[in-house]
Amino acid sequence: MAISRREALQFSGAVVAATAISGCCKNEKEIGSAQGDVKTTHKAPIADTKSPRVVVVGGGWSGLSIAKYTKIFAPSADVILVEQRHNFTSCPMSNLWLVDKVDMEYLTHDYLQGARENDYTYFHATATGLDKKKRILKTSEGDLSFDYLVFAPGIDYDYSRWTSDIAFENRLRQEYPAGFIPGSEHLTLKNKIQNFKGGNFILTVPSGNYRCLPAPYERACVIAEYFKQKNLKAKVIILDENNTITIKKEGFLSAFYELYSDYIEYIPNTTIKNIDLENKIVETDFDEIKFEDAAFYPHVRGAKILQRAGVAKDAKNMLEGDIDPLTYEVHGEKNIFVTGDARPMGFSKSGNTSNSEGHFVAKLIAQKINKTPAVKWESPVTTCFSIISTAPIKAIYVYSEYAYNKENSSFSFTSTSASENWKKEGVVNADSVYNWATALYADMFSK
Ligand SMILES: Cc1cc2nc3c(=O)[nH]c(=O)nc-3n(C[C@H](O)[C@H](O)[C@H](O)COP(=O)(O)OP(=O)(O)OC[C@H]3O[C@@H](n4cnc5c(N)ncnc54)[C@H](O)[C@@H]3O)c2cc1C
Repeated sequence: MAISRREALQFSGAVVAATAISGCCKNEKEIGSAQGDVKTTHKAPIADTKSPRVVVVGGGWSGLSIAKYTKIFAPSADVILVEQRHNFTSCPMSNLWLVDKVDMEYLTHDYLQGARENDYTYFHATATGLDKKKRILKTSEGDLSFDYLVFAPGIDYDYSRWTSDIAFENRLRQEYPAGFIPGSEHLTLKNKIQNFKGGNFILTVPSGNYRCLPAPYERACVIAEYFKQKNLKAKVIILDENNTITIKKEGFLSAFYELYSDYIEYIPNTTIKNIDLENKIVETDFDEIKFEDAAFYPHVRGAKILQRAGVAKDAKNMLEGDIDPLTYEVHGEKNIFVTGDARPMGFSKSGNTSNSEGHFVAKLIAQKINKTPAVKWESPVTTCFSIISTAPIKAIYVYSEYAYNKENSSFSFTSTSASENWKKEGVVNADSVYNWATALYADMFSK
């Protein structure tokens, strides 16, 4: 049966009215301009609350710990974790996964479980901006009001020391990813390692406080061992911008020389001048090195959202002056915090550091919500294991806390201990690696 034009108009009017009544767009507010462009702002699909709301951006080692422990220390809080990924993949232990010594299930964890068991909301969205005055976090899924806001977004790469050519930077990102942010970079790296036919495999180490100081050296060990087991004519060449190995030096150097002398070439104090992708040659300040494959790890910076949100004043990074080093609060914004690898303080950028720091930041936020007496500063804890070999599995480790020096407003290491003698203690340390990882995953995701 055909319908008339009048009936059709009536019908479409009914649809418009029904849409308005059903409230499908009830949160949307359209602001039109004379030019006809329409900006839409809308509330995130999260129920309003009368409870103090704590919004945490980033479901990594820092954000997960803050979301869980804020809810524990301040049960009245409405805690929302804003995370752009669908599931969590661990960087710690991922070097073992590259060579098939743990499986992906061990590294992957469920954000929904973390939220369910710990009584907060996982909101799958990307934070895109901030209205500090109105206390609104802008996200890809709508605006989220907050009383307390934590930025724990981790790092981004900074390729500017190598190139200002965005096309070339994108080739480096795509063809030779660093593998220090989980996801496709790690999958690409694993494929490269497992399909390597021989020749030079370059790993670079940036200077500065890069993410996980020992991880590039640990990675070199497991890749070298993998090539050795396959009897490949291959070499892992480590081009290190630093003067020497930045952490666990004795343990790594002895492993390089005693276990992998034919498979690892360690070149410290190296500045890369040019990467010729067509001819596969790295030009350093004193050499030209041919390579068959590589993972180029550039410098790191705090994730870009900090800049977009106006909490990092420098165009690239958070500076020490941007936040209070003892309370993690952004200067001038008492209820906005920056934590984890994105923080400007010189703590080791490690998962354990971020997790332990998260417990403390949760206490700080809970203290404000509960209006209880001020909380004393607690040092983050850096416990870091590194694998030296996988057959048999041997590891070295370092433990450190930090002390704050008021006079020069800086932190130094304290209570440091280490176990770098992998010949004597490597096997015992290796057991602890799994215990550590399993305990930390449970701390982040279980009740
Ligand atoms: C290969 C490797 C090995 C490592 N080994 C160890 C180890 O053995 N021990 C150890 O302690 N540490 C280790 N680390 C370091 C550890 O992984 C990091 O220090 C830790 O992940 C930092 O935690 P974070 O929460 O600050 O950042 P992340 O864990 O990176 O989490 C940040 C989260 O924020 C999200 N995010 C970013 N921007 C936005 C946005 N705009 N909106 C929404 N979400 C956003 C990201 O998706 C991410 O999930 C290793 C790292 C690597 C790469």
